[in-house]
Amino acid sequence: MKRDITEPKTLQIYDTLTRQLAGVRSTDGDSIRIYCCGPTVYRDAHVGNLRTFLLGDLVKRTLEFSGYKVKIVQNITDVGHMSDDFEEDKMLSQSKLEKRDPFAIARDYEDKFHADLAALNILPADEYPRASECIDLMIKHIQKLIAMDYAYVGDDHSVYFSAARFESYGELSGNRLDALKPGHRYEYSEGGAKRFHADWALWKAAGNRSEMIWPTPWGNGFPGWHIECSAMSLHYLNGHIDLHIGGIDLRFPHHENERAQSNPLVSEGDRNVEAVSLWLHGEHLLFEGRKMSKSAGNVVLVRDVIQRGIDPLSVRFCFLENRYRSQMDLSWASINAAFSTLQRWRERYQQWRVLGATETPLAKELVEAILQDFCNDLDTPRAMLKLRAVEKDVALKDEERAYIFAAVDELFGLKLLELPEKELTKELKDLLEQRVLARSAKDFGKSDELRDLLLEKGIEVRDTSAGQSWKWIKF
Ligand code: AMP
Ligand code: ZN
Repeated sequence: MKRDITEPKTLQIYDTLTRQLAGVRSTDGDSIRIYCCGPTVYRDAHVGNLRTFLLGDLVKRTLEFSGYKVKIVQNITDVGHMSDDFEEDKMLSQSKLEKRDPFAIARDYEDKFHADLAALNILPADEYPRASECIDLMIKHIQKLIAMDYAYVGDDHSVYFSAARFESYGELSGNRLDALKPGHRYEYSEGGAKRFHADWALWKAAGNRSEMIWPTPWGNGFPGWHIECSAMSLHYLNGHIDLHIGGIDLRFPHHENERAQSNPLVSEGDRNVEAVSLWLHGEHLLFEGRKMSKSAGNVVLVRDVIQRGIDPLSVRFCFLENRYRSQMDLSWASINAAFSTLQRWRERYQQWRVLGATETPLAKELVEAILQDFCNDLDTPRAMLKLRAVEKDVALKDEERAYIFAAVDELFGLKLLELPEKELTKELKDLLEQRVLARSAKDFGKSDELRDLLLEKGIEVRDTSAGQSWKWIKF
């Protein structure tokens, strides 16, 4: 449902740079231009990554619901992202491990990424540029930085950004250049070619590397991860980013460096102009109290949720119950609880809508209040409380409940109006029929046994005055 807007609501978000709430606005008077840092496609995205990817979707839904036009660009990093623990491109180390071409791996995980987004009903971005297909943009960007004396070519034929040349370096993350200790490894090693310890590579000379390298005026090589996002965001969003989104770990050095690389290109002389109006960072997700990691064995994928017979939108449900700016602990217990509420709401909605959906002042007021929660720095937990209250509030008629659910469904993105569909197998049909027969023969022992069996197979049966009814609890 699109709102009839006479007075558009403005989404307020917490801006990392100014450390205060600020309204998300369009600077070109047309659309709100958003850039979301995308996945590095060398492995499956875990549910933590998806919590961050959900942020762009929530912003988009809120703004569009309020009547704004939105354009989102999300990059696909398929080259240049170096591993934290050893200095190798994540794509190339995965390629060695799988003994497959790195680009083939990248395309496979890119497909999986899109499937995961769809499973969580995360709206697709308008464009997904791949880093490996934007090398020319990066080279041009680097050439401009060299010409403006923000970057230099090292003896090793890599190109470095002069951190000290960008006066407000550190403002985004709160790091001060003079406090960053020499010896701290910011990026991959540079063989002594850097002039200052906090400088970083915009372009890295190929050295012994033979795959994923490109020719440049400085020799063969490959891009640094940070320059990818500067070049792609400015190009695909036409020179300005109204809102930049990513996980909290990207604040430093990724976004700090991106800001230093992007601002000189949009600034007038030495007067600093911000290429990005607002920076939005989402906090991390823990699973059952711990950071998700392979070694802890607690990395959860969307696939794992589906394999347990749980609608993956239950994970979205859990995310919505927590504010994006707080660290959140997800667990199987909370996912299961969310699933059962989601199923109940879908079922209830089907009952409420029997007499139609009626718009009343009270129902409209509730819809507005829910939108207001989203506009208030994505206060989704409060909005979820309101949705829970709609189910219980005795002051509301069913038709009003139906109206509210239908009105806000696209804001929450929980597919509340649908019942999950699954064909009944012959075996299940037979079991349901046998139970009806057992009850009419007053064989309650057998009918209870059959109820338990059906429950195990994902079907909950109930006895109503109109006879036996059933619903899926798994699909
Ligand atoms: P990557 O594919 O590793 O580049 O990560 C993609 C996105 O997921 C980035 O924006 C990260 O900040 C974010 N991210 C990584 N780990 C987590 C986590 N545990 N919880 C939430 N976001 C995360
Ligand atoms: Zn990025």
